[in-house]
Amino acid sequence: MSENFKKSIIKTFAIEWFLYVFFIIIITIFIIFTILFEKQKVIKTEENRLSTQVKIINDNILMQIYSINEAFKNIKTAINKEHDLISNLKLFVNVIPSVRTFLIMDKNGDIIASSRDDLITFNYSSRDYFKTVRENPIENRLFISSPYVSVLGTLTINISTPFFDKNNNFAGIILAAFDPNALSNLLSSVIYSDDMKASIIHGDGTLFLTFPSNSFLVGKKLLDNQSLLSKHISSGNILNTFKGLTYVGEDNRILSLYSIIPNELDVNATLYVSVSRNINTLYADIKNEIIVMAILYFLLLVFSVPWIFFLQKRRYILLQFEIKNREESRKRLEELAYIDSLTKIANRRYFDEFLEKEWNYCKRNKKELSIILLDIDFFKQYNDTYGHQAGDLCLQKIARCLEDKLNRSHDLVARYGGEEFVCILPNTNKLDAINIATKLKIAVQNLEIPHENSRISSMVTISLGVSTVIPKDELDKTKLIKKADNALYLAKENGRN
Ligand code: GH3
Ligand code: MG
Ligand code: MG
Repeated sequence: MSENFKKSIIKTFAIEWFLYVFFIIIITIFIIFTILFEKQKVIKTEENRLSTQVKIINDNILMQIYSINEAFKNIKTAINKEHDLISNLKLFVNVIPSVRTFLIMDKNGDIIASSRDDLITFNYSSRDYFKTVRENPIENRLFISSPYVSVLGTLTINISTPFFDKNNNFAGIILAAFDPNALSNLLSSVIYSDDMKASIIHGDGTLFLTFPSNSFLVGKKLLDNQSLLSKHISSGNILNTFKGLTYVGEDNRILSLYSIIPNELDVNATLYVSVSRNINTLYADIKNEIIVMAILYFLLLVFSVPWIFFLQKRRYILLQFEIKNREESRKRLEELAYIDSLTKIANRRYFDEFLEKEWNYCKRNKKELSIILLDIDFFKQYNDTYGHQAGDLCLQKIARCLEDKLNRSHDLVARYGGEEFVCILPNTNKLDAINIATKLKIAVQNLEIPHENSRISSMVTISLGVSTVIPKDELDKTKLIKKADNALYLAKENGRN
């Protein structure tokens, strides 16, 4: 196989591999983008849902705060008008669902009225929330306490506000304590999945309440520089959604944080509410899709590479085969064009080309060129006697014999047509040519091919005509043949053989 062919097929295969790799890269990019897009979509959808849930909690708590504020105004009026305080407080506890207790304390922290009968004898002057308000009593301000353990033994927060006597001196505080169970129910109402968590955090960073409850974390301070709450506060946004590790667990979560800000009210602290989900759980839904895609991708790679190798190898072998066949048939065609099919010696066409070449050679070198034209005697009779097949065989034998006897490499014997042969003897003078002709005649005679109907012998004989010339421009090749033909005719006339 030619080098060029090899190069071109290797180039074709290389292009095919290049296209294949390109195709695989495109598919890989497509798969990666699809997965990223799916993940992004899952996260985006969940961000929206979590934002909605966190807003629901915010709206609910805001409503409670507004209600508490309204209750405080009413209670202040009741204090001034010396109405029945206790029944007022009890009424407000009933209408505001998240408030467990309403209390009124005097300026020394002694309870002067309570919605709960069992709390009437307590003094709260040592409590931080009482001290905070007494030290800086600002009218109509709502003081949201840090989470603390109440006398009932549970962690809670309260909202309080100061009230003043007729001389505008601090006279005590009104206080509404939240019911952690009611708030916990509120948190649980937005949960729609097992991996979800919801929390309320005080502005000082203390985790007040979580759902599902976590007694280990509740009461802990969450405000460090790294925490998502710090990020939320420093962002200045009322709503943020973050991805990352959260304080509520060590897992990777998506978390929405909302600042509960009662507009038009003067509050000393902010409450924050958060709702989060585990990101891995979210991805679980598309995990199967990703696994299926990965398996298909893997199969594609594992099967396509050997498959392409196999196809290319097969094509290579087939092409090789085809080319070999083509070369062989071309060779055969070439041979057919120059070789006489019966005698397997050169044919007339080859004789013509050979003569042309030798004619020019001898002309250039001023050498003599001889030809011998020879014809089998009484061959028609031979055919008639022994049959055409035997005639063919006889032609083959004589052709081989002539070829054997002409042993100079630049001599040629060709079948001139029918039972005539021709020899070209370049660089041969007349005498040598006649000698060679005689040698050929004897050689054929010595074959001793029986010919009972030959009128001159019992064996097959040939007659020969020789002609010699030094080729020149003004001379014609056909003349050379004509001369030999004439000589042959003479030989026939003069008794053949
Ligand atoms: P002459 O001695 O005058 O040459 O007589 P001849 O019979 O040999 O010559 P003629 O030209 O009368 O006949 C030639 C014969 O050669 C006629 C033909 O049947 C036979 N011949 C020519 N080509 C072939 C061939 O390829 N095979 C066979 N078997 N015979 C052939
Ligand atoms: Mg003849
Ligand atoms: Mg003849």
